Amino acid sequence: MSIQSWVLRTFPGVLSRIDSPRRQLKQLRTSVARAQNSVFYGKRLKEAGVTPGSIRSIEDFTTRVPVTTREDLLEQDPYDLLAVKPGSEAILYGQTSGSTGNPVPVWATLKEMQDGIELALALPVFRNNLHPSDRVALCYPYTRTLAGRSADLLNLMAGCTVIPIGTRNNMYPPEMAAATINRLRPTILGAAATDAFAYANILRDQGVDPRKLGIRLIVSGAEPCPPARAEALGRVYDAKVLSLLGQNEIGFPGIPCELNKMHVPQFMMYTELIHPDGSPAQPGERANTIVTPTFKRAQPLLRYVTGDTVLWDDKPCECGLPLPTMEILGRAHTVISTNGRSFFPIELEEALYKAASLDGVWYQIRVREDEVLVRAEHRETDQYDQMASSIESQLSAFTGRKVRVEMITPGTLYDYRQIRPGKPLSRVVDEVAGTGEVVEGM
Ligand SMILES: [Zn+2]
Repeated sequence: MSIQSWVLRTFPGVLSRIDSPRRQLKQLRTSVARAQNSVFYGKRLKEAGVTPGSIRSIEDFTTRVPVTTREDLLEQDPYDLLAVKPGSEAILYGQTSGSTGNPVPVWATLKEMQDGIELALALPVFRNNLHPSDRVALCYPYTRTLAGRSADLLNLMAGCTVIPIGTRNNMYPPEMAAATINRLRPTILGAAATDAFAYANILRDQGVDPRKLGIRLIVSGAEPCPPARAEALGRVYDAKVLSLLGQNEIGFPGIPCELNKMHVPQFMMYTELIHPDGSPAQPGERANTIVTPTFKRAQPLLRYVTGDTVLWDDKPCECGLPLPTMEILGRAHTVISTNGRSFFPIELEEALYKAASLDGVWYQIRVREDEVLVRAEHRETDQYDQMASSIESQLSAFTGRKVRVEMITPGTLYDYRQIRPGKPLSRVVDEVAGTGEVVEGM
């Protein structure tokens, strides 16, 4: 049976929900009706003269409902964003990881989390990769963001054995996390790629070969990880790597398939593609997204401006899943322009790992007026010359600049045995534009 017919059989709602504008309209109206119950949207929709009944077409929705920005949410009392009454059902609080320094409040009901997970578990990527016999070590953050808790619930609902480790807390500092992974021999590791690289380095320092742990799958999440870096991580553990990227406010803007393409879950999310000037964009163009997650109950969001630039592709994916795919390139303000070329940090990261399969934890790329300096951590010193020349030639072709490479031992840029501080220790620093944050002492 093809995956497509399998999806149709196991999850019959998917195609009709995608293909039917009527159903989509109904979902958007329901979202407006739910949103009205919060103080924030109650006021805002009243001001705009919008009621669920006044939305007669998708165009009505996109033209009459005002957009919601991150700043709008930051200005509110978090309780004014709640559309369900506390006490009427179980509610969980979280915040975005706040790379901008201002975390956005995020509410979810237990029921909506369970419903979302049930939907996710019907998708081939989870159905085919998670088995009740799996032992799953989860190293995502458990507090502040909802990442750890959702992963926990997903794996428990799949019937797996769950080993909650978390990250960035002093109960499981990296060395304790690595020791627990070594002792419990998980078959699946859920972790940000940075943490997974750090645990591998700690284990190798102790003479343990991460490839012998028996981990067959790594689900990289909680930070973007482009394909070449995912492959490099896979080599370190001799495991398959899938990248999953959730955003606390909106859920999953994309769900990976077996081929590691991000599919847009249109059955639970309405996505508008626009150019920076607000005009509609077409698939294949670099576009910004405005999303309406239609499954949210505790904290509905209508036309949320994500700030992400994406590359949307509506050609069928070889995996057969009948959903468009997209690549999230990053936030528009992080674009690096040099020598008439412009690219996102993640594209530079992809180019770096294509040039060299690094096994350290950290790297740093500094874009300067006259050169690009790359400092990359790697363990095997006898590979330094070959890696440096490969990085030099491939990155200078990519950036159009002179590239200088320093190969360094893991731990030089950042001590991977220490608890990692908050999110942005930027790996890509644009010294010309002054963007990217520099880690102290670097
Ligand atoms: Zn696919």
